[in-house]
Parts: sequence; structure tokens; C-alpha cells
Amino acid sequence: MIAQYGYSDGSGEFYVTIDTDRCDGCGACALACPGGVLAVLPEDPHDPFRAMPVAVVREEARQKIKYVCRPCQLPEARLPLPCVAACPAAAVGHSWTALSGRLP
Ligand code: SF4
Ligand code: SF4
Repeated sequence: MIAQYGYSDGSGEFYVTIDTDRCDGCGACALACPGGVLAVLPEDPHDPFRAMPVAVVREEARQKIKYVCRPCQLPEARLPLPCVAACPAAAVGHSWTALSGRLP
């Protein structure tokens, strides 16, 4: 399942996605994230039948993706993004990386 966290507004789309079929909850993305955006929960909150650890976007960050992901923008874009580069399962995605790699 693709768990999608974020929102769109007049300035763009700001979504972080976690492919929960690929994610094994190793935590590498959360360790690599300079914004404290990601965390690992002991069970998937979106799938009550799957009792395995999984990465999520912290609840307090979900409506602020445009801002909390700024550490990867300044002073210049870090590509690949730290969370994407750290994930051995290619389970992390961002709505803006498919376009230019930079936040609007
Ligand atoms: S883009 Fe940067 S701040 Fe945002 S979740 Fe990934 S590593 Fe964290
Ligand atoms: S690095 Fe990848 S596999 Fe590990 S917890 Fe994060 S999303 Fe899941």
C-alpha cells in the first residue's frame, strides 16, 4: 500500500509517500532525516492486519511538509534526498522530486 502524507495548496503539491509493502521499519530514513519528519511505528496504523514496524510521517509534520522539508532545500537541494538515499528498499517518495527536485 502507498501511504501518502501531505497536502496540496496554491503553491504546489507536498506529499511524502511510504510504500508499506516495501518498508520493513529499519528506521534508516528517520535517522537520515534532518527535519525530524519521519518516525517508525511498531505497527502499521493503516493496516490492522499487518503487525510489522513501518515508517510514517510524524503527525505534527503532515500539514507542514512544505516547511519541515526545507532542511533539504537550503542552501541548495540535496539530491537524492537523504531519506530517499537512506532507504534500502526504495520505499520513500516525494511529490516534488519527480518534477524538479526542488520545493516551490
Ligand atoms: S526531504 Fe529531507 S526533511 Fe523531508 S522527509 Fe526527506 S530527509 Fe526528511
Ligand atoms: S529506510 Fe525505507 S525500509 Fe527503512 S524504515 Fe524507512 S522507508 Fe522503511
